[in-house]
Amino acid sequence: EFSQAGRSTYLRVDLEAIWNNIQILKGKCSEKTEVIAVVKANAYGHGSVEVARYLNKCGLFHFAVATALEGKELRENGVTGYIQVLGNCVEEEINMMLKYNLTPTATNLQFIKKWAASIAQHYERVPSNGMLINVDTDWDKPKVVIKVDTGMSRNGCQCKELKSLMEACENNGIPVHSIMTHFAQAWDDPLSTQEQLKRFLEATKSYRCMGVKVHAANSAAIMQGYATDLDFVRPGIAMYGLAPEPTPEAAAMMQTMGLRPALAWIARPCLIKSLDAGRKVGYNQAYRLKQQERIATFSFGYADGYNRLLSGKGVLTDVSGKEYEIVGRVSMDAVTVRVDDSVTVQTPFYVIRDDYNSPNSASNIAQMLDTIPYEIGTSLSIRLPRIYH
Ligand code: PLP
Repeated sequence: EFSQAGRSTYLRVDLEAIWNNIQILKGKCSEKTEVIAVVKANAYGHGSVEVARYLNKCGLFHFAVATALEGKELRENGVTGYIQVLGNCVEEEINMMLKYNLTPTATNLQFIKKWAASIAQHYERVPSNGMLINVDTDWDKPKVVIKVDTGMSRNGCQCKELKSLMEACENNGIPVHSIMTHFAQAWDDPLSTQEQLKRFLEATKSYRCMGVKVHAANSAAIMQGYATDLDFVRPGIAMYGLAPEPTPEAAAMMQTMGLRPALAWIARPCLIKSLDAGRKVGYNQAYRLKQQERIATFSFGYADGYNRLLSGKGVLTDVSGKEYEIVGRVSMDAVTVRVDDSVTVQTPFYVIRDDYNSPNSASNIAQMLDTIPYEIGTSLSIRLPRIYH
């Protein structure tokens, strides 16, 4: 696979694992609940085009991205279905969203007005039935999602503003696809999560009665059982088999649920040298050999997403699970590892292992860096070749 990758390091992505994880998460929800697969940030490093295309083949047609540009990339690569742009959509994104049939998340009146005005330029009304037809394509009338802030105080209109936003949509002939909110701490704060959910259900009650769809749950909420009976759920992290929190408890729960990591980062050494005691390794000569050692140089570094804070801290594992320490500073394109006599340039290593119990699982690396598995995935550079299974 190294020659297929064209590099001595690559990411192995198991697309079937992602689909399998989605089925498991869906199994935690009510029968009617549909999954919006969150594929923003290059599908958390897994490759959004390949992931979304694969999910299309599996019969999934709902996606969410963070920016219109991310949605454009999916469309240009043949991804079909609903693509929602999460976050606070801004007017700079409107033309692109209309051109590529992306569904914006609206959080304020100004945006809705600008959206309505722009529709007029991209759409023509059929005189006979009043329907809007896209002048560029045959897409139907562009919808919006209204996002309500129920306690996170970040994106979303305030609950008391929802009515005016819904009215603005109606007055401007903009269909509302759904109303959504987002939880701040669904993993481990039941009180605030229940409070957010309560506010959301109250604020949307009259619209739900009229058939407007609603959604709230991210991965943590699905795993903990909040808002799993609404119209949609929006899993991201757990879909990739990564835990929402970098704790052993979270990893254990992933395993118990049968979820599995979809990604492994694999590398082989490019050069192995026996060096004498006293030799210093890498930038700033940060590692000094106390005895003769074999030092293997791998051709990946922080430019690939291997955090420089793992200098002298991180480990690679071989297929048997044996650990090898990173010694010296992580460079942009290289890391140095102390190896034993068994290692050759043919020996494959895991940089990130697709096993919750490995010291270099995404969760354990995140914990080492005092961050969350999300950042481990999204840091994986586009420079890393991805091989799909
Ligand atoms: N919904 C929204 C609005 C988000 O911003 C995100 C990601 O941050 C998700 C859903 C998916 O969250 P997670 O990856 O925790 O499942």
